[in-house]
Amino acid sequence: MNQRMHRQIRVAEPVLDGNESLYVMDCLESTWISSRGSYIDRFEGLLAEYCQVPNAVVTNNGTTSLHLALVAAGVGPGDEVIMPTLSYIATANAARYCQATPVFVDCEPNYLSIDPGKIEQAITPRTKAILSVPLYGHPVDMDPIQEIADRHGLIVIEDAAEAIGALYKGRRVGSLADASSFSFFGNKTITTGEGGAITTADDQLAARMRFLRGQAVDPNKNYWHPEVGFNYRMTNIAAAIGTAQAERLDIHVQRRQQVAQWYFEELADYQDIFQLPWSAPWATHSYWMFTILMRPKMAVVRDEWIRLLAESGIESRPVFYPIHTMPMYFERSGGYPVAEQCSKLGINLPTHGKLTRDDVSYVCKHAIAAWESLRRGQSKPLTRAA
Ligand SMILES: *Cc1c(COP(=O)(O)O)cnc(C)c1O
Repeated sequence: MNQRMHRQIRVAEPVLDGNESLYVMDCLESTWISSRGSYIDRFEGLLAEYCQVPNAVVTNNGTTSLHLALVAAGVGPGDEVIMPTLSYIATANAARYCQATPVFVDCEPNYLSIDPGKIEQAITPRTKAILSVPLYGHPVDMDPIQEIADRHGLIVIEDAAEAIGALYKGRRVGSLADASSFSFFGNKTITTGEGGAITTADDQLAARMRFLRGQAVDPNKNYWHPEVGFNYRMTNIAAAIGTAQAERLDIHVQRRQQVAQWYFEELADYQDIFQLPWSAPWATHSYWMFTILMRPKMAVVRDEWIRLLAESGIESRPVFYPIHTMPMYFERSGGYPVAEQCSKLGINLPTHGKLTRDDVSYVCKHAIAAWESLRRGQSKPLTRAA
């Protein structure tokens, strides 16, 4: 086999085919390269409009945006924040930065986000907030979560880093919680290189986030700081890229949905082996990542599968390790069987707007072949070991 003939397919890639270079050149030529400048307002305006809320506040990444949202919403020392264990590490870290304690909940087996039916049992007198994470682009079932939050007087925050463009009952992710945080890292649906944002319908909360984002400077007295704030500002250059990306947000989301459609067609006959992404009747999936899970009886070693794919030039990634398995948040428990199983059995296939139909066929062909060869290896009698 000629390994050199393989193409290289990355798991994620930005698509910068709008006004990105034009707007960045404008920053350079006008010298507005720092965190003041017109693109900040333009990007914030486009995000707010897209998410159907009055306010968007941009920051320098999706971890600081989540931290800012939690701090501004009043999460502090001793508070508990309920969140899914199956998420990116930033979800838990943002709570820890507030000296609050993450309280983990297992995920729902069909769409992998927090299981609303398991939230109530995690509530204690210290619970301050529910932090939902629409994982890989599938929205969370927010109505039962809001109902629980109302009954217990809790704040609802969304770590929507992966789900811009997703819809819940026809409403945009970004408008479903007290505040929703987005990431614009290079692998996300739209990117600013590094960047983040919070959307909210609450004007006071938005004002508080703007205040804390810029070192909590007194608006009427420059260089006077009545509180400990942060420098979480986005640069005008990043916002220029973001403005160009946001102008074409519908296209960026549609491209991913098209890629997902191709995956569904290619993998339709393999559903007794792989669980393909599921969409709830109330959901429009934005497919940040196309995620497949091996059926438990069909499992091979996930990391071996990823390694074989890489040998064919295909980059993939494991479903997140549940956060409660990491040293800082370790729980022996066994209390999160769904998350542990999904992580062990799941991978994200390449999902981005530059993939062609042919790329998707290539990925599927190799994903199936790699799985088959590992399966054959598994069933070999162990006596052959040399
Ligand atoms: C990407 C991501 C973030 C934020 O990441 P940054 O790299 O800081 O922008 C937060 N939460 C989740 C679930 C993410 O996927």
